[in-house]
Amino acid sequence: MKKVDVAIIGGGLAGLIAAIELAKAGKSILLLEKSGNLGGRAMTVNKNGALFNLGGHALYVGGEANRIFEQYGLKLTGSKPSTKGLAIWDNKLSPLPGDPKGLLSSKLLGWPGKAKLMSTLVKLMRADPATMSNISLRKWAESEIGDPMVRHIFYALCRTATYTTDPDYQAAGPVLKQVRSSLKSGVKYLDGGWQSIVDQLQEMAITLGVDIQQGKSAVEIKHDHGKVQGVVCSDGDTILITSVISTAPPAATFLMVKGAENTVLRRWKDEARPSTVASLDLALKRLPVANSHFAIGLDQPVFFSDHSRAARLSDNGTIVVHLTKYNGPGQYDAKADESLLEQTMSLLHPGWEREVVSRQYLPNISVVHDYPHLGRTKGEVGPEVPEIQGLYVSGDWASHGEMLADAAVASAVRAAGSIVKATSGANNRTTMEGALAH
Ligand SMILES: Cc1cc2nc3c(=O)[nH]c(=O)nc-3n(C[C@H](O)[C@H](O)[C@H](O)COP(=O)(O)OP(=O)(O)OC[C@H]3O[C@@H](n4cnc5c(N)ncnc54)[C@H](O)[C@@H]3O)c2cc1C
Repeated sequence: MKKVDVAIIGGGLAGLIAAIELAKAGKSILLLEKSGNLGGRAMTVNKNGALFNLGGHALYVGGEANRIFEQYGLKLTGSKPSTKGLAIWDNKLSPLPGDPKGLLSSKLLGWPGKAKLMSTLVKLMRADPATMSNISLRKWAESEIGDPMVRHIFYALCRTATYTTDPDYQAAGPVLKQVRSSLKSGVKYLDGGWQSIVDQLQEMAITLGVDIQQGKSAVEIKHDHGKVQGVVCSDGDTILITSVISTAPPAATFLMVKGAENTVLRRWKDEARPSTVASLDLALKRLPVANSHFAIGLDQPVFFSDHSRAARLSDNGTIVVHLTKYNGPGQYDAKADESLLEQTMSLLHPGWEREVVSRQYLPNISVVHDYPHLGRTKGEVGPEVPEIQGLYVSGDWASHGEMLADAAVASAVRAAGSIVKATSGANNRTTMEGALAH
């Protein structure tokens, strides 16, 4: 096998971005992806002509991923969905008090409640997230929001923006920052789904000379005397290499490294709090209730969004909608969650079953393998594994405060930057040593 500078394990967003960043810096890269497709959780599948992301995916316009995609010049068409919609409370629908009109017409809140919601939103926009990484979301909400219904609305906003419901452990700062970014800059649904990101990143990586090997799994990251020596693959190949980025989940990365219990990989695995959802993705001939595109559950952790209102996801007018049930820690029951999502659909769109073209149900999919939370012994995750020189991690679990795909992208940029810094340090040393020797 051709000698390369860096091996990257995983061809999701983190792996592709790390590969591009390093290739742009002049490194030769081998990217290993165990499945037959690139994209990981950002891939899109075509079912009977309807394009399904793996659950509803929204690109945060003010986030790190979008910033990098713009910097790369990716062409991502699509638009911002309107957030005019409905709130679900006690199995009934009412206008969502998410915009001024919805707030005025909402029957969920009396006038004092409406004023309190407004003042909570102002507080949220003014709060300094940097001072709140050690306060739980619950503690912030309980101390700042007295009105129980306003608190329900606030938690629902937080669930929607972070895809996570774990208020006793979620660090308030990063959540408030994410909610703020989504209220201020909004999100974008993408024509062709997130595959349009993956395809353009793949093309860019290939143009930059990245060697992408699909259907090839890394099984061991070899190291000796505290330094990376190579990567062993499932087909028996060993790639001799001194720098590796693993974007596999924390538990999988841990298993690939002999003696990992004596490294930070053990803590990162043990302290990780994955966030999972049940996602019911439907392609429909038409929406039974024409103007019902968006709904948020206040007393149930559910969410509905018609993605076709803002993105082209079929060529024949088929409509793609996503329903999500946010699983709190351990709160997962595939059958019960599916029927909750079907009931939610029936509440919003009675008779929807007659319109189904295709469906996809993902009962307990990991949205992120970890997120900023309390209870971490120390520090942030990655990019270096300090005990093993040349070993780096990235992926949505290696967040330094970012959320979701923003964490995957930002951590990949960090890992690539650390390798460039470490190796240019080595090159400088070699040059200096050479100069001194002469
Ligand atoms: C239902 C759902 C909804 C979401 N909605 C949003 C959203 O609205 N906005 C947002 O910003 N984010 C969203 N996300 C999160 C986003 O999809 C992920 O954060 C992001 O795609 C993760 O990228 P990654 O590269 O870190 O991980 P992955 O995409 O999981 O990529 C890791 C890759 O590594 C490969 N791999 C693993 N082990 C090995 C091995 N040993 N050898 C070789 N390859 C290996 C895997 O096959 C995979 O392709 C959502 C996720 C889900 C599931």
